[in-house]
Amino acid sequence: MLVLSLGTALQANPFRKFDDEIQRSHASAGSSPSVFRIFSVSSEESEVLRLFEQGINQQLEEEDESVASLDFPKYIEVSPVVSNTVVHEPGILIKKYVVQKKDTLTRIAKSFATEVAKIKKHNALTSSALKLGQTLEIPVQVKQASASRVIKKKLFILPVPQSKITSRFGRRIDPFNKYNRVYHTGLDLAAKVGTPVVSAAEGEVIFTGRNGGYGNSVIIQHKNGYKTLYAHCSQILVEVGETVKMGRVIAAVGRTGTATGAHLHFEVFLNGKLINPETALNLTEKFVTKLPKSEIAGF
Ligand SMILES: [Zn+2]
Repeated sequence: MLVLSLGTALQANPFRKFDDEIQRSHASAGSSPSVFRIFSVSSEESEVLRLFEQGINQQLEEEDESVASLDFPKYIEVSPVVSNTVVHEPGILIKKYVVQKKDTLTRIAKSFATEVAKIKKHNALTSSALKLGQTLEIPVQVKQASASRVIKKKLFILPVPQSKITSRFGRRIDPFNKYNRVYHTGLDLAAKVGTPVVSAAEGEVIFTGRNGGYGNSVIIQHKNGYKTLYAHCSQILVEVGETVKMGRVIAAVGRTGTATGAHLHFEVFLNGKLINPETALNLTEKFVTKLPKSEIAGF
């Protein structure tokens, strides 16, 4: 959990640029300065402020060292696929037919469940006379004239696949001081220290390192203006400038910075504004591929 107080302590934070972004984000969400007063820490004795100033807890840091020797997998296979279906489209299919003895247009039309006029028109026939061995093209209305594969994929996967949501995004009571209203800027995913944290989507690592209350953090820039932040990590396993795929192990769960227990604090930004990570986790993309005829059932 990371509770954000928009007080002076944050201004001194080395992560200034990012904090500015959070401020802008809140400013646009709330608009009036009075909104900030709801979130801000009024009491000087606030535990949150104290922890922000204190930064990394030395004892926790030493504890986290114990997992440093563990081997981490490079990737964790988490499928973003939500659904994978084949959708059939009705339409006209052209079937070839070789005229047999005693065939008439009426009989052929009947056997293909179509009309004489349609066969005549398609084959540019001026009369109903047929020749033995003549090849006709019969236009037939079918339910499965063409098909497409429709795959729905999540834009973001849960960054700690085996975890429990312990705190959601939004306003809430400060766990360090129940008389204080604070703004929770992300989604908390509880897991043991050392549990792998994966990149929620493909992107480029744009920040790694210590960041006050956030502790060891990673920020990844994704396509379409999305950015994700992973905080309180015990270890960071990627470097700035690295391109990471969805599912790439980028860090390990910890409790560095202001954290009440081992968990990942996950934030999502869209065009510089904080959004609810759970909204992002529910986003899907649709991929439609036209299937070749050979893959359509019945052909
Ligand atoms: Zn949090």
